[in-house]
Amino acid sequence: MEFTKEYVGKVLNGEVESVRARKVEIIGKMASIFKKIEIEDVGSSKFVATNFVICVNCNKIYAEGGGKMRKHAAMCRNKEAVSKSAATTKADVTEALAKYFARSAKPLNFLECSEFRKLCEDLLTLGQGTSLEIDSKSIMPSRKTVKHRLMEGLELEIENIKKMLEPAVKSISISFMLDFGKCHDNFLAIKCSYLMEHTNENGT
Ligand SMILES: [Zn+2]
Repeated sequence: MEFTKEYVGKVLNGEVESVRARKVEIIGKMASIFKKIEIEDVGSSKFVATNFVICVNCNKIYAEGGGKMRKHAAMCRNKEAVSKSAATTKADVTEALAKYFARSAKPLNFLECSEFRKLCEDLLTLGQGTSLEIDSKSIMPSRKTVKHRLMEGLELEIENIKKMLEPAVKSISISFMLDFGKCHDNFLAIKCSYLMEHTNENGT
């Protein structure tokens, strides 16, 4: 069945009574940008494929596989019109790296190691679902940025640890110091000192 672009658009907008349309995932490089449009065949209530795709970002309709479709993909990306939540940002990368360094206790100077950075950049380029290049170098955070993010997370943890130790503080004479990165680079240190009362046999 042949549908015109105009008709497909109308069905999608709900302007054609009792005919429904649906958007179906496509496979390949354009999967993150376009969905294929299928239209309900009123007689059989089955959905049939059309030759059209819709941009998930701006809802423009294009003939599938055409030059205009490819051109639009590039343009829509370049305008950064792709929803921000879908695109990987520097903050996302920082968050992921901060988690890695928090879990592994690996030193942050890894971030200054060119091989490690290259690995991250290579990984960032994978799974983009598109041939469009991302400037992975520009979204790789510096060691300082990751450290800053780690510190933020640790401040929260420190508050939790403080709460955990509170009963001990109240019951016996204990004092502690929590430190990240000042005394020992890249490590969270907890130092406790406490006093215990001891009664000798003679009662002193
Ligand atoms: Zn678009």
